Amino acid sequence: MLPTKGYAASAAKSPLEPFVFERREVGPHDVLIAITHCGICHSDIHQARDEWGGALFPMVPGHEIVGTVTQVGPAVRRFRVGDTAGVGCFVDSCRTCGACREGLEQYCEAGMVLTYNGHDKNGQITQGGYSTQTVVDENYVLRIPQTLSPAGTAPLLCAGITTYSPLRHWGVGKYHKLAVVGLGGLGHMAVKLARAFGAEVTVLSTSERKRKDAERLGASAFVVTSDPQTFAKLQRRFDYILDTVSAPHDYNAYVNLLKTDGTMILVGVPDKPAPLEPFPLILHRRRIAGSVIGGIRETLEMLDFCAEHRIESDVEVIPIQQVNEAYERILKGDVRFRFVIDLASLK
Ligand code: NAP
Ligand code: ZN
Ligand code: ZN
Repeated sequence: MLPTKGYAASAAKSPLEPFVFERREVGPHDVLIAITHCGICHSDIHQARDEWGGALFPMVPGHEIVGTVTQVGPAVRRFRVGDTAGVGCFVDSCRTCGACREGLEQYCEAGMVLTYNGHDKNGQITQGGYSTQTVVDENYVLRIPQTLSPAGTAPLLCAGITTYSPLRHWGVGKYHKLAVVGLGGLGHMAVKLARAFGAEVTVLSTSERKRKDAERLGASAFVVTSDPQTFAKLQRRFDYILDTVSAPHDYNAYVNLLKTDGTMILVGVPDKPAPLEPFPLILHRRRIAGSVIGGIRETLEMLDFCAEHRIESDVEVIPIQQVNEAYERILKGDVRFRFVIDLASLK
């Protein structure tokens, strides 16, 4: 076994603290990655605080992982020692169901093996990227294009693919008006990607202080949702709405902003269900849909797209000792737009 240093939550109400645990030995198909950077996703907070239920403790969060390959198993074909590699939200799946065979491992019928807060095929609890190293089957490891910076790329592995996948699935692009609700980690990637796809993007935000950032990221309009007059003018304006909000909020107010046949795509996962009014959906044949991350093939496609279009996440790099403070700042919306942990601080 490989002794590994990390930061873990020992219970839902505990702050993250130093924690030593064991990774499995490098198997024939495995890659050992020395982690250099790991993004902090709001899902890490939801899970470390058991807001979605069923959390497994102690928990080392982190599913936006970038590092350097330091060892490969004898059967590994795609990676060599020294390569820059990434790991996103899952590290295995059944590999045989229809979804897996289509490259949609995130919809695996047996359930994907989450990077942390899950069980691997041997029944061991998986642990994430707030740690010095990880061992992952090469089929679930991502090659990182050379031109992308490791810190700016780590958030692409969740925030990037979670917004890229639905925008691609629904073909959001030229001639479409898209509203992005919530300008956080996911929201800022959605603005950058949708602009690169040619869509006209409006940001709907609770924070007036993000107006300038939204424009810089490529949004053509910015509306503060607490301003009822401006909000009212947006009725039937959008073809698509991408909702990235992490806290309970009223979906119905946004549905009314869709054109006839418009689609509201939920990616944010508040911890409580919300009531839905049928009339705003029925009267304009509108849809509400959802989407979770993306498969390995699509994540590689997204990384190539980002390399080609020079798209990275806007990050604030922190030492791991500041992780609890970073969680509090995320909850206050005080981050532009993703914290990334520099794992050199844990060595
Ligand atoms: P984040 O950086 O905290 O951004 C969330 C944004 O939501 C905030 O910046 C804020 O934007 C807005 N917001 C927060 N509280 C709000 C409230 N009460 N009412 C309205 N808006 C509010 O979080 P993130 O990392 O982007 O993650 C967002 C959500 O997506 C989380 O629930 C996360 O678990 C989920 N997620 C889902 C997937 C998936 O595959 N579907 C993947 C990753 C994450 P403004 O300041 O602009 O209002
Ligand atoms: Zn995430
Ligand atoms: Zn499967």
